[in-house]
Amino acid sequence: MKEEYWDSKMETMPLKELKELQLKRLKWVVKHAYENNRFYHQRFKENNVKPDDIKTLDDIKKLPFLTKQDLRDYYPFGLICVQIDDIVEIHASSGTTGKPVVGAYTRNDLEIWAEVMARSLWANGLRKNDILQNAYGYGLFTGAHGFEKGAQKIGAMVIPISSGNTKRQITLMKDLGSTALACTPSYSLYMAEVAEEMGFDPKEDFNLRIGLFGAEAWSDEMRKGIEERWGIVAHEHYGLTEIIGPGVVSECKEKKLHINADHFLPEVIDPETGEQLEPGEEGELVFTTLTKEAFPAIRFRTRDLAIYYEDPCECGRTLPIQSRIKGRSDDMMKIKGVIVFPSQIEAALLKVPGVSENYQLVKEKKGAITSLSVEVEATEERYKEGNLEELENKVEEEIYSILNLKIPVRVLPPKTIPRSTGKAKRIIER
Ligand SMILES: [Zn+2]
Repeated sequence: MKEEYWDSKMETMPLKELKELQLKRLKWVVKHAYENNRFYHQRFKENNVKPDDIKTLDDIKKLPFLTKQDLRDYYPFGLICVQIDDIVEIHASSGTTGKPVVGAYTRNDLEIWAEVMARSLWANGLRKNDILQNAYGYGLFTGAHGFEKGAQKIGAMVIPISSGNTKRQITLMKDLGSTALACTPSYSLYMAEVAEEMGFDPKEDFNLRIGLFGAEAWSDEMRKGIEERWGIVAHEHYGLTEIIGPGVVSECKEKKLHINADHFLPEVIDPETGEQLEPGEEGELVFTTLTKEAFPAIRFRTRDLAIYYEDPCECGRTLPIQSRIKGRSDDMMKIKGVIVFPSQIEAALLKVPGVSENYQLVKEKKGAITSLSVEVEATEERYKEGNLEELENKVEEEIYSILNLKIPVRVLPPKTIPRSTGKAKRIIER
């Protein structure tokens, strides 16, 4: 049984005990931030709250939220709660708009990161005898580093190949016998395509058995497609630079996303009012880091929509569960008054046989009106059959059945939409 968990004490702790631990740690982090950081001190004062006011977990509601804008305003080190000298590593988000978010780590923070990543990878089935092809981009981005730290803590072999140079990826995967692949889900599909072009059968010709995918919102249909193509089990990873990087959430064998809630305290709120919601209700995820020293985030609004559960899981873990991310509220679009997430369209597309996983959503703005259309590649076989109009109609019907919205679809020849070796660009504006 011990084999099941990396840290059975924390992962199977009764919920009541977990909440006691969370409260103890919450008190610590609030005091730490209040005493060691001017921004937090000022913010708490403005909200008339002092560390001593935190007597129960419910008292977290007294604390103000931390937003992405705050992080930008206090770039790069304004939210640091230790001496700069105690920081041993920094990372940064890609920052598509404005300044990036800088994550800073003390030696102890790095220990925690390696620990929660080891826990996550262990829950995915990674073991000492595994060979991990780490095809996330190395650099400031947290992804690759988190996977490396966790895998090495388990004792697995890490190939720090980074993203890109796809033919070499495939050659090394074959020669070194990689058993696990870490990258974005869309990049794994591009790799399969290149492997096929090189004359390999991705399912038969490699030792790969698990995929560790994240940094992108992807549908269950996409997951199924990847698993079939590579003959692997694909696991989801969820994390944020603002919280620690990957390692916030671990997926178990039941494919349930367990929150490492002894280190990261989750809340789900109504994005409009900021009110806390009950387990089972969908809202915006908010996290508080409970143990981080250098850069604690208190009530950080992620803008990701999900549901929180405290139900027991078949795997035996008692750590609470979050649903898969429905989408970032940033990606949410309003088309003719209907709220649309790219992941919903992806799910519809992949239900239609003859359609590939390569698609993009095209947003066109005419004055105040935004219209949306979908471009998707047909599979090689389906493309050869012709009569693509029939396929377009089928996809439109499928989308309509999910969104109750007519969105025009164009089916394109295979290999016409640009591929990505990192995060796929699913929405383009024309
Ligand atoms: Zn589980």
